[in-house]
Amino acid sequence: MDIYVTRPSIPDYDEYCGMIKTIFDKKLLTNRGPLHEQLLEVLKDRFKVDNLELCVNGHIGLELAIEALGLRNCGGEVITTPYTFISTTNAIVRNGLTPVFCDIKESDMTIDEDKIEALITDKTVAILPVHVYGNPCNTVKIQEIADRHNLKVIYDAAHAFDVSLNDTNILNYGDASMVSFHATKGFNTIEGGAVSFKDPEVASKFRCLTNFGITGLETADCIGSNGKMDEFRAAMGLCNIKRIDAETEKRKHVVELYRKRLSEHKDITLSGRIENSTENYIYFPVIFSTYELRDKVYKTLRDNHIIARKYFYPAVNDFEAYKEIGNHDTAIATHISKSVLTLPLYSGLELDTVNKICDIVLGVLE
Ligand SMILES: *Cc1c(COP(=O)(O)O)cnc(C)c1O
Repeated sequence: MDIYVTRPSIPDYDEYCGMIKTIFDKKLLTNRGPLHEQLLEVLKDRFKVDNLELCVNGHIGLELAIEALGLRNCGGEVITTPYTFISTTNAIVRNGLTPVFCDIKESDMTIDEDKIEALITDKTVAILPVHVYGNPCNTVKIQEIADRHNLKVIYDAAHAFDVSLNDTNILNYGDASMVSFHATKGFNTIEGGAVSFKDPEVASKFRCLTNFGITGLETADCIGSNGKMDEFRAAMGLCNIKRIDAETEKRKHVVELYRKRLSEHKDITLSGRIENSTENYIYFPVIFSTYELRDKVYKTLRDNHIIARKYFYPAVNDFEAYKEIGNHDTAIATHISKSVLTLPLYSGLELDTVNKICDIVLGVLE
C-alpha cells in the first residue's frame, strides 16, 4: 500500500452519522444553519479572535477577504512570496491586482521582511505573506512596514491552524488572516476555511460577499459571490475538533522521530522557526544539500511506495501561468523549491514506517 504525504483525519463513522442526523431531522442544509453557528463559536473561542467568518474553502476566503478590504480592481500591487501553494497568488490576480514577488528566508521559508520595503512603489496596496508550513512570519516587522506605508496586511495562514505566536493565536495578526480546513490540512471540514478580521466592519462586508451581497430579505448591498459553508461540512468540523489535540500529539511524536533521525546529517537541513511560536506538526519539509539528492531521494521513496511531495515546487513565479508576471528575483525561493521534499506526516503514521522512511532517505545520502 502506498504511503502518501498526508492522510485526512476523520471521525468515527457512527459519530459523524449521529451529527448529520440532526441535519436530516431539521432539514436545514446550509445558509448559516445551527451546526455552522456552533462551529463558528467553538473556533472563535479556540482562536480567541473577535471577528471570525467561516467559508466554503480557504481559497474563496482569501479572495473575498481581499475584496472585503476594498482592494479588488483598485489597480494596485500586492507584495507576496512565490514559495506557497498557487492559491495565494491566484487570489491576488483574480482580484485584478498585480503580485510582486518578494524572496523568502532560507531559515524558515517565510517572506524575508528585510526585502519588502525595496519592493514598495506608489501602487503598493498590501502585503500578503504566508505562514508557510505553519512557520509564523515576522509579524511585528511586517506590521511596522505596513504602518509606515499605509498598507493592508493579509496573511495566508492556510497551514497555521492552532499556531500561536507570543501566546496569541496567529489569526490575530494582520488586517485579515485566512486558515484552510481542507481535507489535507491539520483540521478539516472536508473543504472549508475561515477568515479572521481586525475590523468588524470588514468582517461584515466579507459575510455579505459570501452570500451574494444579500443583507436582508429584500436588500443587497454589494455584488457578492457564494462562499458559504454548509451544514455537512460544519458537522465534520464539530466532530474533528474534539479529536484535534490528540491528533496533534500523535503527529508531534512523528516529527520528533524524524528530527531525531535526520537533523544531524550533513546533507539535510530542517526548517527553523522564529522564537515564541508553537508548532502544529502538519508538514515536515526537508532541505537537501543538492538538487540531485532531492530528486534521487524523491524517486527512491517512490520506488518504495512512499509518496513524499515536492512542496513547493515549482515556485509560483516559475509556473507557465505566471511567466508574464513572475519575473522577479526570488533566488532563494527557487533554490529551496528545487531542494525541498515534504515527508509523510499524519496522525495514523506508524513510527515503524517513519523509521523505514528515514532508513531510505539516509540510505540514498550514504
Ligand atoms: C491549502 C492552501 C490554500 C487554499 O485552501 P483551500 O481550503 O484548499 O481552498 C491556500 N494557501 C495555501 C498556502 C494552502 O496550502
